[in-house]
Amino acid sequence: MSDRFVVVGAGTMGLGIAYVAAGSGHAVELVEVDRARGATAVDRLAELWDKAVRRGKLGAEQAATNRERVTLRSALAEVAPEPAVVVEAVPERPDLKRAVLREAEALRPALLGSNTSSIPIAELADGLARPERFLGLHFFNPVWAMALLEVVVGPATADETTAAAVALAGRLGKDPVVVRDMPGFATSRLGVTLGLEAIRMVADGVAAPADIDKAMVLGYRHPVGPLELTDLVGLDVRLDIARTLQAAYGDRFAPPPLLVEMVAAGKLGKKSGQGFYRWEGGVRS
Ligand code: NAD
Repeated sequence: MSDRFVVVGAGTMGLGIAYVAAGSGHAVELVEVDRARGATAVDRLAELWDKAVRRGKLGAEQAATNRERVTLRSALAEVAPEPAVVVEAVPERPDLKRAVLREAEALRPALLGSNTSSIPIAELADGLARPERFLGLHFFNPVWAMALLEVVVGPATADETTAAAVALAGRLGKDPVVVRDMPGFATSRLGVTLGLEAIRMVADGVAAPADIDKAMVLGYRHPVGPLELTDLVGLDVRLDIARTLQAAYGDRFAPPPLLVEMVAAGKLGKKSGQGFYRWEGGVRS
């Protein structure tokens, strides 16, 4: 079987997936429609490998080998048929993802995955000729640092496909969890629950955001508190997920009014400079 690993979309996640796949010995084809973004991604990959060399984590020769394993493509039409894996990491828009997946499926990959963080796999599988080979491969940001791979099994996914995804996780140095295709999978459903309750606690005046976060960091050993994490993810992103989960599970996921107000006021977290904290130059102040 070919070891060719195709990643579609060279944004935040596609770049990270390409980095990890090349580092684990795969020949990677990174497909990006936006030429400027493609070029930036290739530069960024080189920077990441240079940094790993400087920090003594990788030999210069290995870094050069990894770099040579990645080939930039500007369309799926440029990819040869029958790659081992295709993972799509294009923006979170169902129609776009479905179109990309249909095109990718025509290459007859052994495994076809989506890095969606919230769209049901069943919805993305609609229109695929071989949905049994398709599932969710939910990587976390930054991909090289985060050990988890959430493998999301759709209603049509074959057992062999799930087994292949679990084996792939091992080859990529990731630790998988296998979850059923339910809104929010395992990670978003649980993570958002904590985030929403923390926001209600701010509104109730239980404590200042920094103290609510500190309580979870020191009291429960969370690496980062739920409010700072909401700032990092983006309040708008969390609001969208809360609404999706509310539609699926009812009002226990109703977005707190404070979250709605903050998003309306443009307080989106780190990316806008203000959320539950102020951010300057990407650093919490
Ligand atoms: P992004 O916007 O940074 O990157 C998406 C890239 O896809 C862009 O460079 C865009 O030009 C490219 N693209 C669009 N259409 C394309 C096409 N037809 N063919 C090839 N490339 C195309 O997005 P991202 O943050 O990397 O997110 C990608 C996916 O990963 C989304 O589904 C998102 O929900 C999911 N995700 C994101 C994160 C995160 O922290 N950013 C974490 C987990 C999962």
